[in-house]
Amino acid sequence: MSDKSTSSKAPAATANQTPPVSSPQRKIYRIIKYGDPVLEKPGAPVEKFDAELEELAEDMFASMYAAQGVGLAAPQIGKGLRFAVVDVTGGKNPEAKIVLANPEVTHAEGEVREEEGCLSIPGFRGYVVRPQFVTVKAQNVKGEPFEIRGENLLARAFCHEIDHLNGILFLQHLGMLKRDLIKRKIKKLRKQGEW
Ligand SMILES: [Zn+2]
Repeated sequence: MSDKSTSSKAPAATANQTPPVSSPQRKIYRIIKYGDPVLEKPGAPVEKFDAELEELAEDMFASMYAAQGVGLAAPQIGKGLRFAVVDVTGGKNPEAKIVLANPEVTHAEGEVREEEGCLSIPGFRGYVVRPQFVTVKAQNVKGEPFEIRGENLLARAFCHEIDHLNGILFLQHLGMLKRDLIKRKIKKLRKQGEW
C-alpha cells in the first residue's frame, strides 16, 4: 500500500536512495504496475522458510521504503507467493516491521472509509471501506505461526496486502464510475508510454 505522500513520480525518484533501515546492498525491486496479470492472480502458499525467504523479506522492506510505501506484497515484484511485508512507520521504527507469510484475516470489526493508494497504481487514490480492527493469523519469516491485531491504518494495510495475495486490487473496492475513470486514465498513460 502506498503512503499518503506518494506521487506517481516517487518510485523512480527514490529508487536509488539508501533505504532508511540500514542493510548492506539490498536489492531494490522494480514494482510491477497495474495491467500485468501477475497482480490479478492469487499467490501460492509459502512452503519453504529458508535463508532465501529472509533475504526476500529484507529486500522487500528496502524496496517498499524506497517507494515510500507502507506495505508490499510479493506479486507486486512478480513473485506469485502468499508473502507480504508491512511497516506503517515507513522504516522509522524497526520493531514495526511485519512479515506476513500465508496471512489470513480471522476477525474483522467496524468500518472505516478512508483514501487508499497502491504502489502498483501510482498517482491514483480512492476511498475504500475497510474494517477498523482486524486480527490476522500468519507465519513469520521462519515459519512460526503468530497472530496480530491491527487498528485503522495497520488494519487497512493488512487487508490491502492480503487482497494482493488473492489477486485483488483496491480498484475493485471502488464504485464503478471511479474505477472506470482510473482505468481510462491508465489506458491513456499507457498509450503515451508513461505507464
Ligand atoms: Zn497495493
